[in-house]
Amino acid sequence: MRVNCPNCSTKAIITGSKELSANVIDLYCQCINTQSCGASFVCALEYKHNTRLPNHAPKPVTTE
Ligand SMILES: [Zn+2]
Repeated sequence: MRVNCPNCSTKAIITGSKELSANVIDLYCQCINTQSCGASFVCALEYKHNTRLPNHAPKPVTTE
């Protein structure tokens, strides 16, 4: 996954993450253009829906 800096459009690296819910994660990002930008920012990554179903159904949960 690639994240670009919203300030200078340079590539940024993901330095950390925080799970907000089962479908939403905050990604902590750092711009690699340290000479003229160096911004750090947070992006949200959200699961929306499947475009294809999994090949195998999930295993049923056992109560043993
Ligand atoms: Zn930047």
